[in-house]
Amino acid sequence: MQYVSTRGHSGRKQFCEALLEGLAPDGGLYVPETYPRVDHATLDAWRTLSYANLAFEILSLYVGDIPSADLKAICAKTYTPEIFGKPDIAPLRKLERGLYLQELSNGPTLAFKDMAMQLLGNLLEYELTRRQENLNILGATSGDTGSAAGYAMRGKKGVRVFMLSPRGRMSAFQQAQMFSLQDHNIHNIAIDGVFDDCQDIVKRVANDLEFKQQYKIGAVNSINWARLLAQVVYYFSGYLQAFERGPAGVSFAVPSGNFGNICAGHVARMMGLPISRLVVATNENDVLDEFFRTGVYRARSRADTLETSSPSMDISKASNLERFVFDLVGRDAGRTKALFDGQLRERGGFDLSGDPRFAEAAARFGFRSGKSSHADRVAAIRDTWERYHTVIDPHTADGVTVARTHASAEEAMIVLETALPIKFAATIKEALGREPDLPERYKGLEELPRRVRVLPPDARAVKDYIAEIVTS
Ligand SMILES: *Cc1c(COP(=O)(O)O)cnc(C)c1O
Repeated sequence: MQYVSTRGHSGRKQFCEALLEGLAPDGGLYVPETYPRVDHATLDAWRTLSYANLAFEILSLYVGDIPSADLKAICAKTYTPEIFGKPDIAPLRKLERGLYLQELSNGPTLAFKDMAMQLLGNLLEYELTRRQENLNILGATSGDTGSAAGYAMRGKKGVRVFMLSPRGRMSAFQQAQMFSLQDHNIHNIAIDGVFDDCQDIVKRVANDLEFKQQYKIGAVNSINWARLLAQVVYYFSGYLQAFERGPAGVSFAVPSGNFGNICAGHVARMMGLPISRLVVATNENDVLDEFFRTGVYRARSRADTLETSSPSMDISKASNLERFVFDLVGRDAGRTKALFDGQLRERGGFDLSGDPRFAEAAARFGFRSGKSSHADRVAAIRDTWERYHTVIDPHTADGVTVARTHASAEEAMIVLETALPIKFAATIKEALGREPDLPERYKGLEELPRRVRVLPPDARAVKDYIAEIVTS
């Protein structure tokens, strides 16, 4: 399997090249040249596999440049009950007839991002060791990505992480979780500013090509193909578990921000997994809901991006949408480039409402969408507690809210659980009048010593700090 860019100018790449590069050199996103098809007999044979072996089978279809035995060992060491807290890694939990939660947040940082980031850590260590290279990962986080990256890369050979976060603006639990990591290859940097300042600094450093090359700066953001591929696995796992229980169809509802999570569902469906519908759930930042309802994609300005109580979905544009639009326009790279490199950059968006392919998109690709508000979120948390004695986090609550508007009696609707409630205690307290339970293994976390460097919102200061660490 080889990879091409959605913008068509980066040649064909092997899996590990796409893994290390992240973004394609022409600014597009890497996608597989074709989607391998999984037939019914194969799907049937996968029913009894462990999660790690299922991951291996799916990855094998996409990874041509890692020997099979090595890939299998990487999957086996990633998806263990010790790391993911449950024997079956991503189990379904039934709420009521036809409505399930898929637990994806029992990993080290209690958000679904661990599902992919843990694999990425092991793949990077493997490939960097093989090439005898080093990588300095630079990223910005408002919470979940940063800690998932830190916990996935801690102690990994050849990798250092420099993670910028807005000083004092993450939840207490998120700060404790990130900053208590004592590993010498993890460097947390608290920026005196907001998340956008952090992101601007990352962009400015990455645009300094000389610095980028000299210090081998890389990224692990959600546009990395390897992260998306890791996520494809739990759609297969969720489908197979629901199918066991005998409904006529299986749909997924996915709390969405950058469209990374649900894009993996799209890939699974393109591979032939018989997913009935893929329901995109947004919060008040409804860029994606607007796109799927109207065909108009309108990136928001900074001022129009709201701070909500499901903060990991507070996005101004959905960076992974380009992969879906590439498929929507018949894999026409010229058209995709004109939309994302032309109209989006010049006019802040584009309009596909007049394109007959957009009109057919719901039927062809199964997408539906909806949005949720703070009041919906609080009501869903309360209702899910009262009816099922289950506490869900605010993002998962957006999924449950939107799932209900698209549920049908004959089908199973699986809501992907994107974080555990303890990460967002304030909203849980508002909904239930009490704080969520702290999982046993996190008791005392907030008292641990912290390792974090405070820097001003200035790219120069961050570059100097990186240079100091790398050359010391
Ligand atoms: C990252 C994140 C999301 C959004 O996922 P995307 O892949 O960006 O669509 C939703 N909920 C939580 C808790 C997250 O951490």
